[in-house]
Amino acid sequence: MGKNPNDSREKQLWETVQRLHAVVESSPLAIIALDGEGHVRMWNRSAERMFGWTEAEVIGRPNPTIPTDRKEEYRALLKSRMQGEAQLGFETIRARKDGAPVDVSIWTAPLRDSTGKIIGIMTELADITERKRIDKEQGQLRASEHAARAEAGIEKRYRKLLEAAPDAILEVDRQGRIVLVNVQVEKLFGYTRSELLGKPIELLIPERLLSRHPVHRERYFDKPVMRPMGTGLELYAKRADGTEFAVDVTLSPYEAEGGDRVICVVRDVSERKRAEEQIQTLNQNLERHTEALILTNKALEFQNREVEKVNRLKDEFLASMSHELRTPLNSIIGFSDLLAERGDEQFTPKQKRFIGHIQQGARHLLELINDILDLSKIEAGHLELKYEDFNVSAAAAEVLATVRPIAIAKSIEVSSMFPEDLSLEGDRLRFKQILYNLLSNAIKFTAAGGRVSIECSETGGMALVSVTDTGIGIPAEEHEAIFSSFHQVGTTTKGVREGTGLGLAITKRLVEQHGGRIWVESEPGKGSRFTFTMPIQAETQDYGVSHQPGDPPLILVVEDEGAAQELLVSYLEESGYRAVAVSTGTEAIRAARDIHPDVITMDVLMPGKTGWQTLEELKKSPATEAIPVIIVSVVEERKKGLSIGAADYLVKPVSKEHLLEAIRRLTATSGWKSREDRSRRHEESSGG
Ligand code: ADP
Repeated sequence: MGKNPNDSREKQLWETVQRLHAVVESSPLAIIALDGEGHVRMWNRSAERMFGWTEAEVIGRPNPTIPTDRKEEYRALLKSRMQGEAQLGFETIRARKDGAPVDVSIWTAPLRDSTGKIIGIMTELADITERKRIDKEQGQLRASEHAARAEAGIEKRYRKLLEAAPDAILEVDRQGRIVLVNVQVEKLFGYTRSELLGKPIELLIPERLLSRHPVHRERYFDKPVMRPMGTGLELYAKRADGTEFAVDVTLSPYEAEGGDRVICVVRDVSERKRAEEQIQTLNQNLERHTEALILTNKALEFQNREVEKVNRLKDEFLASMSHELRTPLNSIIGFSDLLAERGDEQFTPKQKRFIGHIQQGARHLLELINDILDLSKIEAGHLELKYEDFNVSAAAAEVLATVRPIAIAKSIEVSSMFPEDLSLEGDRLRFKQILYNLLSNAIKFTAAGGRVSIECSETGGMALVSVTDTGIGIPAEEHEAIFSSFHQVGTTTKGVREGTGLGLAITKRLVEQHGGRIWVESEPGKGSRFTFTMPIQAETQDYGVSHQPGDPPLILVVEDEGAAQELLVSYLEESGYRAVAVSTGTEAIRAARDIHPDVITMDVLMPGKTGWQTLEELKKSPATEAIPVIIVSVVEERKKGLSIGAADYLVKPVSKEHLLEAIRRLTATSGWKSREDRSRRHEESSGG
């Protein structure tokens, strides 16, 4: 190199080239120059670093960085750039020598010769792989943010559900700390959410209260296998203010990502508890009331007995008083009769009239006493009808014979019409009494010259008897009242002094006791007709029992109270006995005669005849005296019962065992075994 001006210009040029080279080589960007063919003319160090090919490997060759699938696209690109198009920051993908893709940002500028003709392209490439990765990551980050937000949405909905639940729901972690609560928990316990989160569950359900129950959190956490517990456990919980209340707790353990959890559903059951307690107290009250009722019943029974006693006293009083009265009365009647007989010689007509008054008054008094006694007997249920078959027309003739003299005296015509052969099953004397009462009334209340007639017919198993007169008649409003005791029709009886006002009352009862009816048809001034009916066949009850050898013993249950009767009968029938039940003493006596029971159980307090009276009568009659009677009573009067002749005495309420035990003893000789007996024997033999 010489020291001429050219030398210095050349030197300048080279200096420029060197400076350029230094810039190109030190650039962090890959700088690549390509000729018009697309062959590499410059390849700096950054290009070597970025793509892996050395300068020597690529100079004079086609650009090696174009990925195979982009070759077509590259040719078009190259063409447009050769026409002078520049590109700034075009991002695309190039390939490394090892095949890995490189994200690049490309700036291109045309290379021109001194004439300005484009001879090649100058390219600068920046490796943006890292930035792309960051971008991508950031994009992913955004996606996860979306997911997070979506999740938050689900959480929100779940929250809503949680908060809408009527129960207090909370979640407890493995350490027993509260990690989630809903609003019901806050309401129920009076704590705020923040006061509860992280606190031990014992704050709400204290261990003190928990320990009463076999529920402890360890039970749910420390078990190797977590099983969901669906059982509602009833515990007590504590509010923030310290008050305790009954709760149902349902625990459902589950495995969560962050460890095992338990979902607790707490329900306030204090209301239900209260209701249950109320029902219980109501029940207790009911029991107390029942007890009170039983006491009241006992008191009533006692009062009944008192009434019974008073009635008995009245009966006794009447019986003795009648006797006491009748004795002097009979003397009065007897002596006044004597006086009347010899009256003609010894007495003045006036004195004779006086004696007549004495006789009349005394007879009236006797009649009255007899009626009163009769009626009280009937009302006390003491009147026993003596059933027999009798001819109605014959009985009526006897009655007619006794009243005819009075009728003749009053010149009243008495006629009768009876079917000859009609016979009745009933109490003949009482039948005559009925007829007599009606006939004597008819004659009594009919003026001289009137007519009285008796007719009798038979309809539907009943005898129908009517007594008709042409007398004063009875106003309609009195038709019922005349059948009650001591009732006399005020206006009609004027001038008719005799009579007690008891005749029709007695008549009615006698008719009814026979199973018949009595009524009157009458109008004032037009006479009266009294009619009564009576069954032709006495009502015999068909108990539907017969005695066959080997039959179970037959028990007659005498009990007026329906439920008690049913209970006794079912006790007996369940054990295999046969049972017949009746509800009055009179029925009991009849049934005892008819069916011959092996044992009788006898209530004491019954309407009409009491159990005592019935027992006495049974013991008096040869037909029934041998039947053992068990008295069943609310009152303990064993001594009295046994003294009258009872075989045993049971106090109400009677247990099945006691009843059967007593019956078993009394029927032991029959050789029959009740169901209980047999099973007992079986047990004994299998046990021994
Ligand atoms: P007494 O002993 O007074 O006759 P009863 O009970 O037999 O009592 O009769 C009650 C009342 O019924 C009588 O007092 C009378 O007023 C009325 N009575 C009864 N039978 C007749 C009748 N055949 N005609 C009119 N009144 C009658």
